[in-house]
Amino acid sequence: MIKPIGHKLILKRLESVVKNNSYGHAYLFIGPKGVGKFLAAEYFANLLICKEKNAYGKCKDCQLISLDGHPDLFKIIEEDNIKIEKTRELKEFCSLKSFSGGSKVVLIKEADKLTSEATNSLLKSLEEPEGKVVFVLTASNINNIPKTIISRCQIIVFSLVPKTEIIDWLIEAKGFSKAEAEKIGQLAAGKPKIALNIAENEGLHEKKDVENFFNLFKNRNYLEKFAYLNKILEEERISYILDAYILYLRDLLILKTGCKEKIIHKESQDFLAEKSEISFKKIEKSIEIIKNLKETVSSGINSKLLAENLALFMEEG
Ligand SMILES: [Zn+2]
Repeated sequence: MIKPIGHKLILKRLESVVKNNSYGHAYLFIGPKGVGKFLAAEYFANLLICKEKNAYGKCKDCQLISLDGHPDLFKIIEEDNIKIEKTRELKEFCSLKSFSGGSKVVLIKEADKLTSEATNSLLKSLEEPEGKVVFVLTASNINNIPKTIISRCQIIVFSLVPKTEIIDWLIEAKGFSKAEAEKIGQLAAGKPKIALNIAENEGLHEKKDVENFFNLFKNRNYLEKFAYLNKILEEERISYILDAYILYLRDLLILKTGCKEKIIHKESQDFLAEKSEISFKKIEKSIEIIKNLKETVSSGINSKLLAENLALFMEEG
């Protein structure tokens, strides 16, 4: 289990309501995608269930939670819509007696994926709590959550995490050097999830990532292209790859004007030289397209759709 990165004030508040037994019945965690709302929800759930009011400790409850197998914790994490079958399972969970005698917790990730049927069924569970059940819903946009649900929840707003906190975490918990942590912290843009993804992929593979991206244009296999793009979109690595890609394209422009010594990626000179047949016009156009693409990515459009469009764009060369 990973302790949330940043959000110290919120975590303190959650710890204190558990300690004082003054927690509410339902919460809605709102904030941008990737800031760690669900990690905070899992942390809160652990505090609520552990008899020592601890999180990620050594007791039996904490251990079961870390194995994702505690009977008093019910999580709904769906790829697509959250259908009524799930909220029916939830109802059944609510009607069961607590396994360890304390609170039971329901976590719903991306509650904006609830279908209207599922929303109605969830509302019933929220209105008629059986036993001690605490609900925590997370979502990135409050406007997509029905008012009937919002009115029953305490709302906690998550913001982007300061870069320094992400950098400190990378150094202390993940053992990155200061220089590399700063680079990753910059790319994470306040979203620990991006830092986490890069850290779990054992650091930046800027050169390799960009080479793969470049080579994608030549790959004639649409499905392979789509699969690769979808993967980097899901891992939320696309923004960083696009940023790096733009820098490589700039180097390519510089190299074509013959100013070898001014390029940033000196180690990739040979790789860039191979691409020197690409025209100025095409490079400039690519930079423009990539910049637009970055805006589309940050607007939070469906990643599968974006991967499809991107793969098609590459088909056209
Ligand atoms: Zn414990």
